[in-house]
Formats: sequence, C-alpha cells, structure tokens
Amino acid sequence: MGENEEKIVMPGDKLGIIEQYVPGEGTYDDDGEIKSSVLGNVKINQKKRIISVDSKFGKPALLKKGDIVYGQITDIKPQRANINIECIKDNPRPLALPYMGAIHISQAKKDYLEKLGDAFRIGDIVQAKVVKITGDNVDLSTVDKDCGVLKAMCTRCRDYMHTTNKKDEVQCNSCNRKEKRKVSTNYVN
Ligand SMILES: [Zn+2]
Repeated sequence: MGENEEKIVMPGDKLGIIEQYVPGEGTYDDDGEIKSSVLGNVKINQKKRIISVDSKFGKPALLKKGDIVYGQITDIKPQRANINIECIKDNPRPLALPYMGAIHISQAKKDYLEKLGDAFRIGDIVQAKVVKITGDNVDLSTVDKDCGVLKAMCTRCRDYMHTTNKKDEVQCNSCNRKEKRKVSTNYVN
C-alpha cells in the first residue's frame, strides 16, 4: 500500500504484523498482530515504519484512573467480579479498546461482604470507578454511593428487577424472587 492511498478500516481489522510496522495512534498490538482500534483511514509513515489510523470520529476515548464507567457483569469468581466495560460516563466517544475490568471483593462495598454473589450477578449493569490500570487490567470500585448495580437481572428467570424498601435488596419484576445486590443510588427502576 502506498503512502497516498486511502484505506478505510474497522475496529479489530488486521493492519499488519509487529515485524513490519510500529503500531501508532488508533492501533493496538494484539499478540504480534497490529489491529485498528477505531473506524478510520490507514496512514503509513514509510520512513519511520509507523502505521496508524485517523479516526473518523475524533480521537477514541482512553480509560484513566478516576473515570466513572458503565459495564455488564460477565463472570463472578470468589474474589472478583469481571465486567465488560461499555463506555465512560459523560464521554460519547467509543472506547479505544474493548476493556475488561474487575471488582475485587474488598472494593465492592463499604460494609463486609460475605460473598460477591451478594453484590453482583452475571448480566447486571453496573456503574463503577476506575481505581487502577495496569496494562490491560482495569481495577474498579463500587464502594461510592452512586456506584454499584444500576439494573439487576433475576438469576431464576433473567427478567429485570426493582429495588425494595430494604437496603441493597432487589425483587424480580416477573417471579417476585428477592436477591441481594450492591445497589447504586442511580438504580434504574
Ligand atoms: Zn425472576
């Protein structure tokens, strides 16, 4: 591909390999393969061997410590809950990478928590704060009042649940089952 040719790529499209080019802005190194993290035009700096992608929607959003994010619980382990981070609060730009985050059991709520399943369940939509980023690992906290579950999903029938007058309790809209959660003050009933 020449320097003046235009080529549009999608996020995740393979652009080359790490032996060929240096991954520049709008790209990431996926185990030796350089892929696009945005929708845009491919640019190659032949002298410096840098490949980059100019986003059609401005620079993509990168996570940083202190950001408030929204995501969905994908897995619950004894010590941590995994979250697929969907977007950053008050930031309409798409995320540069498909970030995965984790909430350690000590970062779920202020009070003692016997098990993480009393705070989150798979499928729940949560609001969380970024407390630490190490490489691809994003540590999240839901200790703050406005953080926690925004929308809970019933473990029996998978329908959404509403809050009750008891703290950190939700009830299924369909089967009336009651479950525990770390409920956010922004819970969507
Ligand atoms: Zn139910």
